[in-house]
Amino acid sequence: MTDTLAPTSTPAVTQERRIVTAIPGPKSQELHERRLAAVPVGVSSALPVYIEAAHGAIVRDVDGNQFIDLGAGIGVTTIGHTDDAVVEAAREQLGSVIHTLFTITPYEEYVRVAELLAEHTPGTHAKKTVLVNSGAEAVENGVKIARKYTGRNGVAVLEHAYHGRTNLTMAMTFKAMPYSLGFGPFAGDIHRAPNSYPFRDGLSGVEAAKRTTDYLEKTVGATDLACLVVEPIQGEGGFQVPADGYLPALQEWCTANGIVFIADEIQSGMARTGAYFASEHFGVVPDMVLSAKGIAGGLPLAGVTGRAEIMDASHPGGLGGTFGGNPVAAAAAIAVFDRIEKDDLLAEGRRIEGVLKTGLLELQQKYDVIGDVRGIGAMIAIELVEPGTKNPNSAAVQKIASYAGQHAVILLTAGTYGNVLRFLPSLAISDALLREALAVIDEALATL
Ligand SMILES: *Cc1c(COP(=O)(O)O)cnc(C)c1O
Repeated sequence: MTDTLAPTSTPAVTQERRIVTAIPGPKSQELHERRLAAVPVGVSSALPVYIEAAHGAIVRDVDGNQFIDLGAGIGVTTIGHTDDAVVEAAREQLGSVIHTLFTITPYEEYVRVAELLAEHTPGTHAKKTVLVNSGAEAVENGVKIARKYTGRNGVAVLEHAYHGRTNLTMAMTFKAMPYSLGFGPFAGDIHRAPNSYPFRDGLSGVEAAKRTTDYLEKTVGATDLACLVVEPIQGEGGFQVPADGYLPALQEWCTANGIVFIADEIQSGMARTGAYFASEHFGVVPDMVLSAKGIAGGLPLAGVTGRAEIMDASHPGGLGGTFGGNPVAAAAAIAVFDRIEKDDLLAEGRRIEGVLKTGLLELQQKYDVIGDVRGIGAMIAIELVEPGTKNPNSAAVQKIASYAGQHAVILLTAGTYGNVLRFLPSLAISDALLREALAVIDEALATL
């Protein structure tokens, strides 16, 4: 291994929580002042500690504080920060070729990622993949291809969905604040139907699916819909796990009506839930699967993988983009797939679910502010309520996330009502670190 690019002055990040200054410390505060002058307020940070190094499940700030990372950059560093295999693959690729543009002169790494996605997304049918740079761009391309294939315009999405921040995806995302308020006009022909939200609607999967499809049939008409885009487990919306039978009923309805069934697995995919893709837990085989976030170990890469006949609906030259499927990001993605396979990282997702769910269910016994504990694998959430009701309690969520940050645990919030705490640790996190983080959250709950 060549070490020419290794950071020489940065000491290794040990897998331990460590608090050495107030949080944020003086160096972070100094950087924050510079940032406020140079970066617009629209780009805000949940915890303004400036990170100088990260490895595994720990990030270290410029003041030397070490945080247990339960967010993994929103489910991006799924196999761990600066995973050795990813670093090695990217470093090697940097020394051979960084960019040619696949639509000018192609390279093997792009093709290999497409093969791996065909192999590991649900279903054994023939599949093809286009690679792009971000989740939102994958959603844009998925919709674009579905429209071309069906010759229809309508796009159906669900309540509480999150699909991104570009113009089309802002219109597909449910929550206006902060994602779209004041940023219009928005793309048309987007139709938002009720989802399955077992904690709040009490419906069976079949009942919830009927509500979704009835709504779309009445307000749009199935024959006007090109696609239905669904997160198998909703991300930003609050980790809603749909009731049993909901997704299969939607898929059946899509198939019967010639609608492309698109699974946005950008947050739930790539080994996050103890399966390569969360669709597998629900027994559905989407026509198209969107991946991004965890696919390349932290490098920007996204994929649209679909039935070959759907993906081939676009004329030559209709799909692409300058940076899509960049060789370094693609090399990193190949290393990610290799690690998942070789080191059985799917089992790590199940291990983490065991520790997290058990711990959070225990906390629910102790604190009646926890209304619901839900999720699969390393994608677990608690929904906080005003005790004795289902009224959303976003104030409690803010207090706990802030307490956690002060005690060197990075904990993300979510939910349309801002009342969900979500746990998206990397698969590299140890049981001991998870339990330590749970103890901090226990303390935080006790202060309410
Ligand atoms: C993050 C996310 C997106 C958008 O991805 P970006 O890379 O931020 O554009 C879309 N869908 C889901 C489900 C996501 O979690």
